[in-house]
Amino acid sequence: MSKIKGAVVVDVDRCKGCNLCVVACPTQTLALTTNEVNHKGYVYSYMAQPDSCIGCSSCAIVCPDGCISVYKTKPATAKPAVVADKVEIVSGVAPLVNNVPVEEEREVVLMKGNEAIAHAAVRCGCDGYFGYPITPQSEVLETLAELKPWETTGMVVLQAESEVAAINMLYGGGGTGKRVMTSSASVGIALMQEGISYMAGAEVPGVIVNVQRGGPGLGTIQPSQSDYNQATRGGGNGDYNVIVLAPNSVQEMADFVDQAFELAFKYRTPVMILTDGVIGQMMEKVVLPPYKPRRTEAELVAECPWASNGNGLKQRGVNVVTSLELDPVEMEKKNLQLQAKFKKIAENEVRYETVGCEDADYLIVAFGSAARISEKAMSLARERGIKVGLFRPITLWPFPEAEIREISKTMKGVLTMEINAGQMVFDVRAAVESQIPVAHFGRLGGIVPDPEEVVNALVEKLVK
Ligand code: SF4
Ligand code: SF4
Repeated sequence: MSKIKGAVVVDVDRCKGCNLCVVACPTQTLALTTNEVNHKGYVYSYMAQPDSCIGCSSCAIVCPDGCISVYKTKPATAKPAVVADKVEIVSGVAPLVNNVPVEEEREVVLMKGNEAIAHAAVRCGCDGYFGYPITPQSEVLETLAELKPWETTGMVVLQAESEVAAINMLYGGGGTGKRVMTSSASVGIALMQEGISYMAGAEVPGVIVNVQRGGPGLGTIQPSQSDYNQATRGGGNGDYNVIVLAPNSVQEMADFVDQAFELAFKYRTPVMILTDGVIGQMMEKVVLPPYKPRRTEAELVAECPWASNGNGLKQRGVNVVTSLELDPVEMEKKNLQLQAKFKKIAENEVRYETVGCEDADYLIVAFGSAARISEKAMSLARERGIKVGLFRPITLWPFPEAEIREISKTMKGVLTMEINAGQMVFDVRAAVESQIPVAHFGRLGGIVPDPEEVVNALVEKLVK
């Protein structure tokens, strides 16, 4: 079977010849010019061996200036692609009414997942963003800096001095009832865990975006899903969970921002959008959400009577927002109240998607970018006569345990496909309760598996 090939386009005029893309390319496709410079006087990157490109996107991910666009190209023998709907790229500025952008029509735009997160934050009435740049999520902060929402909606955008500072700004902002957001990548999210635990203990809402890269430690800047355990087990000290949403497209990156804020305020809890370098960096067609004005102070007082912001002080007295309680009896009561809240979330907020499970003998369970790859693997397996279905958890916590248990009753085996060493597989095994074999397949070090590798793993581990 022919492999899908790749091609890259370098924005030569933006390139500064740093060589990062050349080093990151696993197939030596790229090189720097030796006798030509761009208008800035820099040598620039070009496709020296176009036939070698596999479309892995590593070059686009590492480029600090966003110069590279990667395209997948069909092999010559492949069936013609279905013609996509016309994509209208709108770059105009929305009109203002009372200093709030008002949308007249839904826009369809082509953009990166990280950029969609930033646009969605401005559009869904976010009051403040605090973050620190780290690959592969820096475009969130960069896009917000370009959008300048402080001049339109009044949203604050602040580059903090560190991830620790950013999460504590989130704690402070959320404690006043404001809709606040931060973003980082893996190692940066690890630094934030103390603050996330404080927020969960003090019941402070806030949205945290994790665009995962490979670990452990500083690891790599390429995509990974190795923060599954960190995200779904709370991540910091104490007994708590945060709601974890896993988008698998640029559209869901945009859609999940407002959903995350709604859940954060409904349950007074931090909510994490757990994505990765693939979804953060890839460009897709997206319909951005309509503009929603930021809440007024009166609305905030009505919706957040617990907030510590001085508003409504005369009516309600002093609000103290803290996770500290020195009386163990009171602290146990507080913990039990938190556990009751987590139980309610688990009962009401599970989200998932299934594809082709009705007649399937084998099930692949995968989330985020791994689900996109697995959907292709599913159709390749069916071409080989193996009936495979896909189960995509959208909430990783709460995990769709009962739903996986039910669907696995008609299956012969389950494969979890994760871009890690095997983390979600333990939750799937717990759900399936040893009724059928559950195996794991994944790649490490920032390598994103090919759909054919997934089919081969399924055959080797389960079908035989
Ligand atoms: S997409 Fe991958 S293979 Fe192609 S040039 Fe970029 S890094 Fe190299
Ligand atoms: S990483 Fe970007 S800026 Fe650096 S050489 Fe490659 S294209 Fe140019």
